[in-house]
Amino acid sequence: MDSQIWAKVDQIPDEEVWWRHQVLKERLIAYTRDQLKQARQNRGEDAAAVHEVDQLLDPRALTIGFARRFSSYKRGNLLLHDAQRAVQIFSNTEYPVQILFAGKAHPADEEGKRIIQRLIEWCSSSGIKHRIAFIENYDMYMARKLVQGVDVWLNNPRRPLEASGTSGQKVCFNGGINCSVLDGWWSEGYQVVPNGKGFNGWAIGEDAHTSNQELQDKIDSDSLYQLLESEIVPLYYDQDADGIPHGWIQMMKASIKTNAPAFNTDRMIADYVTQIYSREKVTDPQPVVASVPL
Ligand SMILES: *Cc1c(COP(=O)(O)O)cnc(C)c1O
Repeated sequence: MDSQIWAKVDQIPDEEVWWRHQVLKERLIAYTRDQLKQARQNRGEDAAAVHEVDQLLDPRALTIGFARRFSSYKRGNLLLHDAQRAVQIFSNTEYPVQILFAGKAHPADEEGKRIIQRLIEWCSSSGIKHRIAFIENYDMYMARKLVQGVDVWLNNPRRPLEASGTSGQKVCFNGGINCSVLDGWWSEGYQVVPNGKGFNGWAIGEDAHTSNQELQDKIDSDSLYQLLESEIVPLYYDQDADGIPHGWIQMMKASIKTNAPAFNTDRMIADYVTQIYSREKVTDPQPVVASVPL
């Protein structure tokens, strides 16, 4: 919980942080290829499709992760809102971007299932299919690989429906950086520098929302594209002669030192104990008896 201890991440040499992070990213990519290969083999896909997996993803490319339940409020396909603009971002050969999706929909959630369907179709669209992967059977083991290996964790729920968004907190301990709507934990965690830009991550859209869902999806997706194009991608690819992105690593360190001491299980338990468990028992209000004569 001690923020002074976490502040010491600033003393870790950038090279060391980056080397460790890249090792975890390579492990995540190797794991993803393995999973996709097995899935394609199990479905009886042809040898070409199975071998294609060896070309999937690049450990040097900016890697985004999106993994959670596919409830419709989580807007798993917000990134596809303007599919052409998204393809432009992902297909850039000089500054490539790649994304890993994982998650399940409730069997009775038709809209959630449709969102997964659209994403999987997008994964096979030409030009960017080596930059996108949907990993099946999301579970805790896979979640751990993901939160350890990604550069950016994307979370774009419909406000104000996100209770917390715990996966984003797990990412911070590993030096991952959050790009999220200001909802759930991120409305408390996000910090800015004096010019108003993100200090420990990025905020999609503003700290306000409309009840018009279509309009909100447009506002938030535009903001997400804008962030990727003008802040996230340029910061990641601003690397020195040895390929070390010092500005990026500064933000990784900010993500660790600001979030790790504030969002953890110590805090959770302490909050439960002081705010819920040990509160004086509140007596239930007297039921209101209808004064209507029977
Ligand atoms: C952390 C985690 C979740 C919860 O993540 P949210 O961001 O709160 O949606 C769900 N499933 C798995 C496997 C997890 O590890």
